[in-house]
Amino acid sequence: MDQKIAKEDEFFHQHNQKLIEERRKKIDAKRAEEDKELRKNTHWMKCPKCGHDMEEVNIENILVDKCTECEGLFFDRDEVDTLIEVRGKTGFMGSLSKIFK
Ligand SMILES: [Zn+2]
Repeated sequence: MDQKIAKEDEFFHQHNQKLIEERRKKIDAKRAEEDKELRKNTHWMKCPKCGHDMEEVNIENILVDKCTECEGLFFDRDEVDTLIEVRGKTGFMGSLSKIFK
């Protein structure tokens, strides 16, 4: 009988551990999503160098984010891809294309 109780205890212990792990994974995933949203809200359209607001400017139909303070430029990956596609992979654009996978 003692062995049967020990096996039942072990079963419930493992079952509870599995439930705890599943809940922990859900909580971690929720926290990661909240952190991602918080970072996005905090940094969205803010200059990565000086922290001031960025504004979109249209340069030959390519939207580029320009800092309103230091005038730094930020190109989204899609915008860089479009630029490389339009300009070709020669010279500077060729070198630029090599930094992407
Ligand atoms: Zn700036």
